[in-house]
Amino acid sequence: MTTAAATLEQHARSGPGRGRGRDPRIADIAARALAGERLGLDDGEALFATPDIWSVCEAADAVRTRLHGDAGYFNVNRHMNYSNVCALSCRFCEFYRKQGEEGAYTRDTAYVVGQARGAVEAGATEMHIVGGLHPYLPFEYYTGLLSAIRAAAPALHIKAFTAVEIVHLARIAKVYKADDREAGIRWVLGRLKEAGLGSLPGGGAEVFDDRVHDEAFKGKIRSDVWLDVHRVAHELGLNSNATILYGHVEHRRDRLVHMDMLRRAQDRALARLGYGGVGAVPEAGKGGLGAAPGHLGYRAEAFDDATPVITLTRPGVSLPTPAMNSRGGYFQTIIPLPFFPDGSDLEGLPGPGGLENLRTLAVARLMLDNFPHVKAFWIMQTLAMATLMMQCGADDIDGTVVWYDITKVGGSSTHQETTVADLQRAIREAGKVPVERDTLYRRVARDGAAWTTAEHR
Ligand code: SF4
Repeated sequence: MTTAAATLEQHARSGPGRGRGRDPRIADIAARALAGERLGLDDGEALFATPDIWSVCEAADAVRTRLHGDAGYFNVNRHMNYSNVCALSCRFCEFYRKQGEEGAYTRDTAYVVGQARGAVEAGATEMHIVGGLHPYLPFEYYTGLLSAIRAAAPALHIKAFTAVEIVHLARIAKVYKADDREAGIRWVLGRLKEAGLGSLPGGGAEVFDDRVHDEAFKGKIRSDVWLDVHRVAHELGLNSNATILYGHVEHRRDRLVHMDMLRRAQDRALARLGYGGVGAVPEAGKGGLGAAPGHLGYRAEAFDDATPVITLTRPGVSLPTPAMNSRGGYFQTIIPLPFFPDGSDLEGLPGPGGLENLRTLAVARLMLDNFPHVKAFWIMQTLAMATLMMQCGADDIDGTVVWYDITKVGGSSTHQETTVADLQRAIREAGKVPVERDTLYRRVARDGAAWTTAEHR
């Protein structure tokens, strides 16, 4: 047994824990996770149900330490929303406006280039770009936007467009066909990559469940299409990320199914990179994806049962690196996002509390055994909470951001900026060592606004 697992087991035996005593089931789950075993959905339910949340956090911290040691990642970045005009009206969304409505905006290329130049002057390594599903902008607006940034700021990594936007772009380019959606998705991603797209963010996943989809974001793409977009991106050598937006009309079990589907998708990406499997999909009764396809209403047919289970939490397993992108891309990071009711159609709901946020992030670290990184997105979690999360499974805190229009925590404005010093302080307060990374998690060496990564040096 590893030292971390032995410590957890000792805690379980020596109780009492903080408040209610140690739950011995968590030590068993932690030991199995640290041995590289894939946890089943029933394990996930135990992690959600136990009153012993601190053991769940310790277990998640042990796994993140196995993967990253003491490193706590941050980056210097800029977010930019090119338009908040959207053809859809998701019930949880406070961001969208209709064309012509007060507050609606669409940025032109000159504005975007100005933002990119400003980002470079401030030392940013990444520009994160997403927007609404604008019904009238032509496809060339998006390729033009990427090309213009690429010309003005060649070293800036462009992480842009959620899977939902990619499908929308395929529709407006008139290449999306219901009976062969993959061809249209591939065409769009190919054009965007040529124009300068570097990777995909993880938004638009919400919760992979048809009931939740129909209640909260009907009209958006369903889970199978979201996963198709990311699979094709990976096949084209683009890395991507994933989110889960929780705390609205879903159940905790739905969150676990969502995580299960993501790790099966990552199995497929890692198999493409040459990783070997560790065994079977969790058995029936343990509640894994292969146990009872379709019994929870999710789309198990999206996966090939022949794809091996590949965990990265086993001792001695190396994490994938950008050097592998000639063989394919992969999911880098899971970003749990709490739902904020204010200003949305669902504002009668309370939204998740602090402990639920902590627990969901810790469970994500334990369940998503083949995702290299877990991000505590400080913009939506708050920096104070993200600090705590660095002790509960998160290894990344995101970046300096500056402008963020999607969610305004506590009524804040779109100007949501923090400094490198604040991020470093938060990471140190959590007992971790701040490490600046670029979008692909290469370590950054910096001299003022000038920077290089290990692969560039
Ligand atoms: S969540 Fe995205 S797709 Fe839905 S209304 Fe908001 S901007 Fe549009």
